[in-house]
Amino acid sequence: MTCSLCNKEILGDSHNAHPIGNEECCSECNSSRVIPLRLFLSGIYQNKALVLNPDNSIAFIKPRGTAFELDELQEQVKGYIEVYPLRIPRHIVLVNEEGLIHNMEFNNLASRVFGMKAVGPVMICPEAIFE
Ligand SMILES: [Zn+2]
Repeated sequence: MTCSLCNKEILGDSHNAHPIGNEECCSECNSSRVIPLRLFLSGIYQNKALVLNPDNSIAFIKPRGTAFELDELQEQVKGYIEVYPLRIPRHIVLVNEEGLIHNMEFNNLASRVFGMKAVGPVMICPEAIFE
């Protein structure tokens, strides 16, 4: 069986990849992506944002100060920010406003988790740290 996230063969235990689809994934993807994503989506992290990258990696970003400045948000989406019309309670979803113009890669991870049709990095920022 191959991992539905990294496409490598699953050698040890397999895990349900939900919310990144409902197929199986390997232990490494489970601990590096699936579990952190579940924790984030439970809303327990109000002090950091989640970034979903087109290469299927995820990152957690904390603001320099008490909330993100515009340049920090732009750095994460790699350009001008645009609020994406997706409702996640107490969070704001940001994408690159010019992602299509710049031929950024389709964000498969955001598609699988949220059904988003977005290109480039997707940033999910708690309202508490969004100015
Ligand atoms: Zn994997």
